[in-house]
Amino acid sequence: MKRAAIILFTTFSSFVILDSSKVANHDTNYSRLDSLRGMITPERAWWDLTYYHLAITVDPNTKSLMGTNRVDYKVLSENQVIQIDLQAPLVMESAEQNGVDLELKKEGPAHFITLKEKQEIGNVNSLIIKYSGQPVVAENAPWDGGITWTKDNNGNDFVASSCQGLGASVWWPCKDHMYDEVDSMLMSITVPKHLMDVSNGRLRGVDKNKNGTNTYHWFVNNPINNYGVNINVGDYVHFNEIYDGEKGPLTMDYYVLRDNLKKAKQQFKDGPRTMEALEHWFGPYPFYEDGYKLVEAPYLGMEHQSSVTYGNGYQNGYRGTDLSGTGWGLKWDYIIIHETGHEWFANNITYKDMADMWVHEGFTSYSEGLFTEYFYGKEAGAEYIRGLRAGISNTEPIIADYGVNAHGSGDMYPKGANLLHTLRQVVNDDQKWREILRGLNETFYHQTVTTQQIEGYISQNCGRDLQYVFDQYLRGSSLPVLEYVLKENNVLYRWSGVVEGFNLPIRAYVNSTEVWIEPTTSWQGTSFASPDSFKVDPNFYVTVLDVMGS
Ligand SMILES: [Zn+2]
Repeated sequence: MKRAAIILFTTFSSFVILDSSKVANHDTNYSRLDSLRGMITPERAWWDLTYYHLAITVDPNTKSLMGTNRVDYKVLSENQVIQIDLQAPLVMESAEQNGVDLELKKEGPAHFITLKEKQEIGNVNSLIIKYSGQPVVAENAPWDGGITWTKDNNGNDFVASSCQGLGASVWWPCKDHMYDEVDSMLMSITVPKHLMDVSNGRLRGVDKNKNGTNTYHWFVNNPINNYGVNINVGDYVHFNEIYDGEKGPLTMDYYVLRDNLKKAKQQFKDGPRTMEALEHWFGPYPFYEDGYKLVEAPYLGMEHQSSVTYGNGYQNGYRGTDLSGTGWGLKWDYIIIHETGHEWFANNITYKDMADMWVHEGFTSYSEGLFTEYFYGKEAGAEYIRGLRAGISNTEPIIADYGVNAHGSGDMYPKGANLLHTLRQVVNDDQKWREILRGLNETFYHQTVTTQQIEGYISQNCGRDLQYVFDQYLRGSSLPVLEYVLKENNVLYRWSGVVEGFNLPIRAYVNSTEVWIEPTTSWQGTSFASPDSFKVDPNFYVTVLDVMGS
């Protein structure tokens, strides 16, 4: 998702309205419906998704969807009740297995389906869900998602889905929990014949139907998360190129509204630039088999897997502004770089529970700095990341409550990026740091993860236990304060406002000489002849306080 928190810079009140229901708040009373949405319930836990075939008709005239989803799954343990989610006002009309109609019991979006055939462990079974209706209309896509029904400048329908957080069950019936990704998926999307559907993966073919519609068959040959699945229906034109990447030739296909072809051919040059920079830092693009696409959408943008949606107005920056305030953010198109960055952190490495959403947004915000560094130099990238600090509030934890589909503070974007930038200083070896970033993508390739796995990997590979550092930045809300005082031939320092055991080493300069210090919460000193200045490397995201001077 692009950052909701960005709205902080422009219309703070709308951010609060949009996200207040989901911002981590430990006073929140969660309901049973929150748990049915956010937990791995017993009716989800016993089966493993293997395949979806979503076959639907999109009717812009009636703003409705209708069709079926075939759900294939492997039985892991004994159970006869399966949970499939679909949000009102869409209606699940029926569920059948091997031609036999099954009983549905509905509780909010959760539909509990009692299976008649005995579910034998190890078997792969199939279920066909039929549904129809007018789905939730997106009020403010992509944050407040659903389906966007709009028109282009020529009066053609322009339709798109977006559903991170809200959940894919807002527009199609599925196992709406992030922990279990389907292994592959076919999407057969029927649209009026003057329009085109662009979805994930590769176009297998188009059926021309007798009733004035066409059906586009898109196949995704890799695991995909729920909110990554999307439809985009419009009067698209197409251009493409082949990128010579780390794993060989990568198809890059671009679908834009007819009137925007010329602008897109210019602006989308940031596509291969992003691929070059991020393959360097993160390793090969994770979905060569499915190709890469940029698809124009009627909202700002979203990291839909292998079909990144774009609505940044063919301009640099974030809607023309630089989130870092340094000028570097105007050198490139925020939506192309950020949403493409998510192919590694969101689509390749995916959170199991939305509470750990920083794994998507922290790393991807950080990728903006890495892109800047790759093309404009190391200091430019660092300036960009430091500049993002203006958007950090340090008032709520980044990690939210588990099992209730909640996400933490919008700080997960800029503070997550600054945490990673700080850890790079600790590693103090650019080659090793790059190996850690690439190693994450290799180790957790096509997996859903917990933050503990990511934290553990970084600790292990930088050779230092960073648990307390992660606790401070991700689970607490306040910034560590490094207090210091210059006293005779000593520099004295200590941490305050930190979790017990906090052990971030710091690169500082005493009279311009580099020193590494390992402060604790007790005063310690480093002797130095006539220290008259003490400066912490600004790349460490901490508060520095001259106790005598304050
Ligand atoms: Zn994002």
